Amino acid sequence: RGSWSSSDSVISVDSAGGEPGSPYRVVLLGASGVGKTAFANIFAGGADSMDSDDCELCGDEVSDREIEVDGETATIILLDTWDAEKGDEWTQERFMQIGDAYLLLYSITDRASFLRASELRITLRRFRPARHTPIILVGNKCDLVRRREVSTSEARACAAVFDCKFIETSAAMQHNVWEAFYGIVRQLRLRQDSKED
Ligand code: GDP
Repeated sequence: RGSWSSSDSVISVDSAGGEPGSPYRVVLLGASGVGKTAFANIFAGGADSMDSDDCELCGDEVSDREIEVDGETATIILLDTWDAEKGDEWTQERFMQIGDAYLLLYSITDRASFLRASELRITLRRFRPARHTPIILVGNKCDLVRRREVSTSEARACAAVFDCKFIETSAAMQHNVWEAFYGIVRQLRLRQDSKED
């Protein structure tokens, strides 16, 4: 639990996402190897990306950044800390509670990761029963067309059942990654607007 102490102040549960202009906490979820680190690296703008294999320290990575979406600036705090396979339960619960929005990643080349995303969606619902939390199901590695194991139509149908948006991306080709972040910000704003009505 100690590993959280340094970031607790940044992501205390009530401080972000509530008011216009305040940062949104976006959490990356997904099985190992689906591309979370690659996503986080693109978000952080780091060309010197570290391979997750030799990067134990990435475990507590939190990066924040201002991005412009539809002519308006939004601040996103990206949490890329929880590995579905390695994370302990306490960490999992923590992540399920603190996000304002979630990017639920799987790899289109790995059906098991798609099933894992489904499980995570269900767990997320358990933790966030009342609130409408923006979630985007992200099918990453869409550049690997020959190795595809999950069809676009199946994933789209799944996203509809899950009540979340869907996008296919390639972190390797930097395709649609920013669109996923823009989509999250748009959904967060919609939620905010409807609260204000
Ligand atoms: P994580 O375990 O979810 O953080 O996954 P990583 O970001 O470490 O990615 C696992 C492996 O998949 C790495 O070798 C990445 O270079 C590779 N990878 C990530 N995204 C893509 C992608 O969109 N296309 C391809 N071809 N490889 C990717």
